[in-house]
Amino acid sequence: MLSFEKSKKAFKESSKYLPGGVNSPVRAFKNVGGDPLFIKKGVGSHIFDIDDNEYIDYVLSWGPLILGHADQKVVADLQAAVAKGTSYGAPTLLETELAKKIQKIVPSLQMMRMVSSGTEATMSAIRLARGYTHRDKIVKFIGNYHGHSDSLLVDAGSGVATFNDIHEAPGVPKNLAYDTLTVDYNDINGIKKVFKTHGNEIACVIVEPIAGNMGVIPGTREFLQTLRELTTESGSLLIFDEVMSGFRAAFHGAQSLYQIVPDLTTLGKVVGGGLPVGVFGGRKDIMQWITPEGPVYHAGTLSGNPLAMTGGISTLDQLNEDLYKEMVARTDYLAAGIKQAAVSHHVALTVHHVGTMWSYFFNAGPVNNFEDVQKSNVDYFAKFFNLLLQHGIYTAPSQFETNFMSSKHTKEDIERTILAFNTAFDEMGER
Ligand code: PMP
Repeated sequence: MLSFEKSKKAFKESSKYLPGGVNSPVRAFKNVGGDPLFIKKGVGSHIFDIDDNEYIDYVLSWGPLILGHADQKVVADLQAAVAKGTSYGAPTLLETELAKKIQKIVPSLQMMRMVSSGTEATMSAIRLARGYTHRDKIVKFIGNYHGHSDSLLVDAGSGVATFNDIHEAPGVPKNLAYDTLTVDYNDINGIKKVFKTHGNEIACVIVEPIAGNMGVIPGTREFLQTLRELTTESGSLLIFDEVMSGFRAAFHGAQSLYQIVPDLTTLGKVVGGGLPVGVFGGRKDIMQWITPEGPVYHAGTLSGNPLAMTGGISTLDQLNEDLYKEMVARTDYLAAGIKQAAVSHHVALTVHHVGTMWSYFFNAGPVNNFEDVQKSNVDYFAKFFNLLLQHGIYTAPSQFETNFMSSKHTKEDIERTILAFNTAFDEMGER
């Protein structure tokens, strides 16, 4: 058995100062029955906790670290950048450089704004949609998560689904929540009905084209195509929230997989390579509504921060189609190994993976929306998660989250992970 003594002590201490002992809720391991691990360093695909336990890491800071931990070039570029100062509050060449790189990879971002988190990106995108269309209502999907701004915290996935009743959002003014219409994910009839009643009041539909905040659930082509058509017909905007799926579901994002061009896109996570970056962008005629070019206000003291821009540039510079082929092949292999382990242990398990995103549900499936996810056996998940941890595998500590692959995960890492799944299934059988 691994010892977590130092982490336990650190958690007691942090809990005196930080609510729940953490700065973001799912880190707390609350619903998997343990205390969180305190991490002291990461190297490639591995992380080390303060008790000196080593793990193969599939959380990867919840997605950003596509090049793994402490990538040599990223570290060197950041070291060079920090020596020149940490922030100027004035334009730098780095911002245009990152914008150009992003546009080359995701061409629908004809213009964009840099922010410091995914939450800011989506919050600003819906404000822009509301300003541009002169409409108040927005549509989101149940179990999709777009960060924690008021309008988007309604029926949200991720930590909200892990800890709360998703239909309640204490602190969100009722009047604001009233303008957020929610529909089941992948429900074509549901969204058609909403547009029939409210079509000319809807500023935008925001969607995770590949949902990753209730485990991985791909949107169906027909569903996303319907969203494109309905928004175009009614004069509202389609926002693809690719904070997670961007540079993850595919090099060029989920929009390249479906060949659907949204009006606006939000990015985060990988685009900052582990530093705080979010981006919202899209059609030039819409983005020109942002201040000071247009009337919709957006600002940020640290927006486009030079260190954050460097993290993004250094990461995107190293990404290419061949690297994705390798990472996706490894993800496919891992998913197949996990499926096989479940089959041979007669465990009802549904494994979903797209690009470098993967998750599994203790649920016979199919899993196409939040209601389906909720049928998963979360108690089994919690026990299984802790067994994986004991075998040196660090995965997302919730049934409602996604795991990731990095360029640094080796064949040996994957084989060890598949072995750990088999061993954990054996051990679950003995309980
Ligand atoms: N949108 C999506 C799709 C996300 O997955 C997340 C974070 N998991 C966010 C928005 C919010 O990003 P952040 O945590 O950087 O605010």
